Amino acid sequence: MADILVLNAGSSSLKWRLFRSGEPADGGIVERIGEPSGAVADHGAAVHQVLDRLGGVDAVGHRIVHGGTRFQAPVVVDDEVLSAIRALSELAPLHNPVGVAGIEAARHAIPGVPQVAVFDTAYHATLPEAAATYALDREVAQRYGIRRYGFHGISVGWVAAGTAALLGRPLAELNLVVLHLGNGASATAVAGGRSVDTSMGLTPLEGLVMGTRTGDLDPAVAFHLGRAGLDLAGIEDVYLHRSGLAGLCADNDMRRVIDRCSAGDPAARLALDVYCHRIRKYVGAYHAVLGRLDAITFTAGVGEHSAVVRARCLAGLEPLGIAVDRARNEAGDPARIVSPDGSRVAVCVVPTDEERAIADEVARLLRA
Ligand code: ADP
Repeated sequence: MADILVLNAGSSSLKWRLFRSGEPADGGIVERIGEPSGAVADHGAAVHQVLDRLGGVDAVGHRIVHGGTRFQAPVVVDDEVLSAIRALSELAPLHNPVGVAGIEAARHAIPGVPQVAVFDTAYHATLPEAAATYALDREVAQRYGIRRYGFHGISVGWVAAGTAALLGRPLAELNLVVLHLGNGASATAVAGGRSVDTSMGLTPLEGLVMGTRTGDLDPAVAFHLGRAGLDLAGIEDVYLHRSGLAGLCADNDMRRVIDRCSAGDPAARLALDVYCHRIRKYVGAYHAVLGRLDAITFTAGVGEHSAVVRARCLAGLEPLGIAVDRARNEAGDPARIVSPDGSRVAVCVVPTDEERAIADEVARLLRA
């Protein structure tokens, strides 16, 4: 499989990378899709633009956010698969439609070239029922497909494997907590390479504090806001776009939040405290879920680059065998262990690479 194009469609962007014999060869991002200031009308047009530039490719891998209960592994897309992904838009109205648009455009532009869908939920297909089930009326849950699906799975799978490589131990022997801290943020408990609990649920809203999303919240907040006169779209807008770090201190870039903290800004300090407190809670919870914990791995924008966040959210956990070595934490190498030698729990930083993980999956599937 010589040339594999990976497409990762966001709400108003299209990230693309070309892999040639497994190595990154080209890439870019089309931004402000569909916005008045952007040059491209929709995701279909963006895909056409990328394919025009590349000439031809041998296969395309598409990142699809929601695979529901059906898609537990990557699949080659045919008409039936495409309509199943389209139907899952009900569960992921912000995410699946742009993925579908990307697949449709690529099939149209390069008919006959295999299109592979790789799902962000698939890694969590191994969640035990006790972790995946909400304590909600069974009939309601079944009728509407309400359960914990989990997200960031492409990243978590890649980073779990990277952690095993870093520690020089087989993944099958390791119990890990993977903290993917980007604009979206999640924690996942991984036992022997299988996801056994994860903080995102039906949608990527639950769990940790994110750039603009609430994470965990009393479900009754929605009733309260509804009775106060907000409609459903208004509540959704508050939860998804006007909360998290941005809601607490009007900044969703962790670099700015930390700079403002250092300058003594109280709103930024509270935002960072809430963010780190939530992570600490999940680390403790997943330590309990796993019983024995071998490593905690930080990844994505904040996880890879913020020594402050890593140190803050693990501070005080020494009685659990968890500690961060200051010099190692602040050193600049990408993949590394940042806990002191001899710690019971290794604390690791492993850069994620979702596009590369997708390209690997595509190559593996098409070889099979
Ligand atoms: P996405 O979830 O969109 O893929 P990333 O994983 O790239 O996002 O993470 C983006 C976030 O990473 C930004 O919001 C930014 O706050 C944060 N970030 C990037 N570099 C740093 C840094 N040096 N220190 C703290 N945060 C950083």
